[in-house]
Amino acid sequence: PTPPGPYSRVILKLSGESFAKKGERGIDMEEVVHIATQTFRAQQLGVEIAIVIGGGNILRGAQFTAGNSSIHEATAHYMGMLATVINGLALQDALESVGCETRLMSAIKMDGVAEPFIRRRAKRHLEKGRIVILAGGTGAPFVTTDTAAAQKALELEADILLKATRVDGVYTADPEKDDSATMYKDLKYVDVQQQNLRVMDPTAIAHCMEHNLPIMVFNYREDGNIERAVRGETLGTRVTS
Ligand code: UDP
Repeated sequence: PTPPGPYSRVILKLSGESFAKKGERGIDMEEVVHIATQTFRAQQLGVEIAIVIGGGNILRGAQFTAGNSSIHEATAHYMGMLATVINGLALQDALESVGCETRLMSAIKMDGVAEPFIRRRAKRHLEKGRIVILAGGTGAPFVTTDTAAAQKALELEADILLKATRVDGVYTADPEKDDSATMYKDLKYVDVQQQNLRVMDPTAIAHCMEHNLPIMVFNYREDGNIERAVRGETLGTRVTS
């Protein structure tokens, strides 16, 4: 099908927390199926979608090692990467349960569970109309899946990086804690860097800036927003050059 808007291929970054009920951890399949349904609808509009999945609902390396000298930080980061594979498996079945063809690819080799990430193969899957789930992050410690999302967007030549969050966009302060926080509609990469805004980790921002890859931070919890985002509607906050 012809794309409904300016984008033919997008990277959707889903955080692990989108798989749990608000304030909880772990995986709630009801939440996963909900997000899978929304994503499948968006893909059916005729836009190729690769999802980079986080692992924060299970474990984040930096948090896990804080004040914990009995584990090396790198080990904890690997644990976090494995958490994304656990989420990827849940998402794959959720997508399949709503009738969507998917492939799970991992940056960490895990035969029997996921295909290895091979750029050309990932592109083929997308061209064939499959939603590709990219797990394992970058395969390397000390970064987050935001960096993986930026890298994969560049590798797969996506038109935009769509970062799904629980809030409407990027704010001057945490809107869940500060009532006076206001949302930015447009930001430049340098604003994000200089003001240290919580959009994505610094490595991810640097990648996007260097390659002029637009980012849109939007609220996935509003029904239909994933469809609106892939259609090219302006939601939340856009980060560009
Ligand atoms: N991680 C990593 N390298 C990567 C991607 C992820 O070491 O390329 C680890 C890191 O510890 C991270 C954890 O995996 O905290 C889970 O990913 P992330 O925090 O990005 O998940 P999200 O916040 O999106 O749920």
